Amino acid sequence: MLVDSHCHLDFPELQADFAAILARMRAEGVTHALTISTTLETFPAVRDVARSSPNVWCSAGVHPDERRDGREVTLDELVAMAADPKVVAIGETGLDYFRVEGDTEWQRERFRTHIRAAKACAKPLVIHTRESAADTLRIMQEEGAGEVGGVMHCFTEPWEVARAAIDLGFHISFSGIVTFKNAAVVKDCASRVPLERMLVETDSPYLAPVPHRGKVNQPAFVRHVAEEIARLRAVDFETIAARTTENFFALFRHARPA
Ligand SMILES: [Zn+2]
Ligand SMILES: [Zn+2]
Repeated sequence: MLVDSHCHLDFPELQADFAAILARMRAEGVTHALTISTTLETFPAVRDVARSSPNVWCSAGVHPDERRDGREVTLDELVAMAADPKVVAIGETGLDYFRVEGDTEWQRERFRTHIRAAKACAKPLVIHTRESAADTLRIMQEEGAGEVGGVMHCFTEPWEVARAAIDLGFHISFSGIVTFKNAAVVKDCASRVPLERMLVETDSPYLAPVPHRGKVNQPAFVRHVAEEIARLRAVDFETIAARTTENFFALFRHARPA
């Protein structure tokens, strides 16, 4: 068993031949996946993908890279979206100062709204952070995000940031970046995060791991992420697969393995 804890199955790159994507997952032993919401407009499609398979769940949220087009998602909207039994998390949310220029106060406000929604519906958070670790951690602390916990997804920050998130009760998820030759910081982190706090993901269709780098990523490729972490920690692949699967179902407790 292996779980892809973060992918975007509604994106056109993966919908083009979705039956083949699911078949490849089965062939590689990737039994479950969490498909992640990024906009209000596409949330129904994300939810429909989750409804189409007993082994797929979804989140509800608006990505920090999605610019405001006049109207911001509200706490009540997020809570209503999260009431669906297929929704097991709130996100992806967080901060991204790499992609957004100028005033970023709206990003921090949106992040706070997601944390408050997660607390209101008692579902864990999926957090994205890029070039914004200090503010991300500060807002997590100020808003009491530790009450619901969650995951720092596609983690690329140094160990100190992982440590702080772990201390707040969060999990750390590694993507295909851990397989990249020059990803020394990510490899270091992946060898130090306690196994009981680790998840694996693809973030597909982006960031395909070695040996598929540059191609369209898919959940089946999460196997390469787990294999690299096993190599870095000098443990069996089966150990990483079993622990990350166990962690997934403990964290996203509304997801029932099928
Ligand atoms: Zn992300
Ligand atoms: Zn994502």
